[in-house]
Amino acid sequence: MIVMKFGGTSVKDIDAVQRLVKVVARERRPRLVVVSALAGVTDALLEAARLAEEGDATGAGQAVRALHRRHEEMAAVVRGTQRRADLLATIDALFGELESIVRALAVVEEVSPRSKDTIVAFGELASSRIVAAALEDANVPAPWLDARVVLVTDAQHGAAQADRQATDDRLRSLVSPRLADGLVPVVGGFVGATPSGLTTTLGRGGSDYSAALFGAGLAADEIQIWTDVDGMLTADPRVVAEPRVVPQLSFDEASELAYFGAKVLHPSTILPAVGLGIPVRILNSHRPEKAGTLVTRSPPDGGDGPTAIACKRGLTRIDITSTRMLMAYGFLRRVFEVFERFRTPVDVVTTSEVSVSVTIDDRRGLEGIVGELSAFADVACEDAMAIVCAVGERLRTDTRLATRVLGALDGLPLAMVSQGGSRTNITVVLRDADAPAAMERLHRRFFEGEAAHAGRDAVATA
Ligand code: ASP
Ligand code: MG
Repeated sequence: MIVMKFGGTSVKDIDAVQRLVKVVARERRPRLVVVSALAGVTDALLEAARLAEEGDATGAGQAVRALHRRHEEMAAVVRGTQRRADLLATIDALFGELESIVRALAVVEEVSPRSKDTIVAFGELASSRIVAAALEDANVPAPWLDARVVLVTDAQHGAAQADRQATDDRLRSLVSPRLADGLVPVVGGFVGATPSGLTTTLGRGGSDYSAALFGAGLAADEIQIWTDVDGMLTADPRVVAEPRVVPQLSFDEASELAYFGAKVLHPSTILPAVGLGIPVRILNSHRPEKAGTLVTRSPPDGGDGPTAIACKRGLTRIDITSTRMLMAYGFLRRVFEVFERFRTPVDVVTTSEVSVSVTIDDRRGLEGIVGELSAFADVACEDAMAIVCAVGERLRTDTRLATRVLGALDGLPLAMVSQGGSRTNITVVLRDADAPAAMERLHRRFFEGEAAHAGRDAVATA
């Protein structure tokens, strides 16, 4: 079986839901459908909660009514008259209840984390109803399941942790039999409940986490994350003119890239599935024929060179040289304690016998940091630096790859070079002004030659 998760943009309007229906209908494997709230709805619900907390009953009520209308309009996706009437009645009941809740909370001017979860859960509860009705309307037998019955969590409202055992039991009793009967159950992501039935949510973007938990519990063959992009890219399109879709990458590679702002998916949310060896595929609901990007536990098959490149710009480099001749033990500790005191994360670190260089992104503590470091070291700073990073598990096995990466940068002044123990990336720090050229050169060398074309064909035909 597979899990098909559709994000907010894949259910954002009637056209999107119609695309979803086509994608789910043409799939032949047993499948569980997981959906996010319609795009923007979670934010709007949080805003309604905020207004209630301020005691603005009218504002909160209006916010809910606007959402009510948006969901009502979505019912037009269902053609069957009776089915549409049923869906409208469900939507009316949901938003009527929500309006009473926010008005009541506005009276007491208090929205606890528990009440906030009750409010935001309406987004997924409503979208999943619409999707189930739309699928039924297209002759896909799609029973709606209440996420609050399927996903059991602890009581950490706003960032609940799943009780895997209890959730697996629910999946076995509620989902498996329906799949065996040829049904296509639909459930909202992001939402769960405590064993005693209090509504909880998993944290923003939590629908991916729901999909991973369900896929893990059901031992899915694949989890599909349907979104509005073709997959993970070989480079940031704002820096490199023609990035390609990465056909396959490992979980570790995806984690590295997420750190550099590849926002397609937060790898930590899919860990429950990837940890069990269940592949996760990112797909574009506008172009369902594309193979997307496959995230797997093991390194990608075949290929040559890094899997993707990334950069982070506008950084400051700090060079810290011990004022003693040799680096005494305790020196690094003292250096990093300063960064800790100023709550400033360090990105790249390189060391020599007498000096340490680091880069930081957040300059707010810089003056204080330099002041404290100067008590025991010579300090020099340079702004307008960038990190350029080649990510790839092949750096572990291909002994010439690191040299090839650095070779592509020949002639560009490198301020720092770093390759970590895990060796899934090689990172250089250079002037920010050189970052686009560095990225273009790496991209041309590794992704725009013959190998890149083979990779692209694989994407097109898989
Ligand atoms: N609707 C929730 C959010 O926007 C969960 C999700 O979309 O994954 O954070
Ligand atoms: Mg969302």
